[in-house]
Amino acid sequence: MFIGHFAVALAAKKAAPKASLGTLIAAAQLVDLAWPLFLLAGLENVRIDPGNTAVTPLDFYDYPFTHSLAGALVWSALFGGLYFLRRKLPREAAVLGLVVFSHWLLDLLTHRPDLPLLTNDSVKMGLGLWNSLPGTIAVEFGLFAAGIYLYIKTTAPKNRTGVWSLIGLLVFLTVMHLGNLFGPPPPAVEMIAVAGNAMWLFVLWGWWIDRNRSRSH
Ligand SMILES: [Zn+2]
Repeated sequence: MFIGHFAVALAAKKAAPKASLGTLIAAAQLVDLAWPLFLLAGLENVRIDPGNTAVTPLDFYDYPFTHSLAGALVWSALFGGLYFLRRKLPREAAVLGLVVFSHWLLDLLTHRPDLPLLTNDSVKMGLGLWNSLPGTIAVEFGLFAAGIYLYIKTTAPKNRTGVWSLIGLLVFLTVMHLGNLFGPPPPAVEMIAVAGNAMWLFVLWGWWIDRNRSRSH
């Protein structure tokens, strides 16, 4: 799943109005922000395997730290807990923890059974929506549209930047997602690991949008 995770970040602004959109994006994508670092460190592995499912050309055979159920619970508790220690906002901290966990649930829906409960030897889960390209497109864009709708209803632009920064992000995510769906597979695993770090850009982008939008009344 890709834009579906951003949909959760956008929608969660309603439940956690004091959390910045950038922080919500970091939560929704936390384990995918960590994943390239684990790849670079050699602690997790992926192989390029065109046709692995109809949607992804990647075989996620080794990623227990970032994508196991146990890992997801630990990341959720850590992120929510650290946010609470820093900001003392229990509601926002709880929502952020849930948003981190939502990543695993959405991946559970899309991945073939490659998400382990704990280690690589444990049961692996996945409902396999990625076996259907039309199904994937319908669910991802459906979630994305719902997330955008909720975010626009919850916030209002303070200035023109508050309008264009948001539109820019939504267009960029859509183009990137279509590129992922219909573009060629990545040429090398090293490139996935390096390019994956560009995901931090969306966190910064979210903070920028948030500074230029306020809660609507
Ligand atoms: Zn993921």
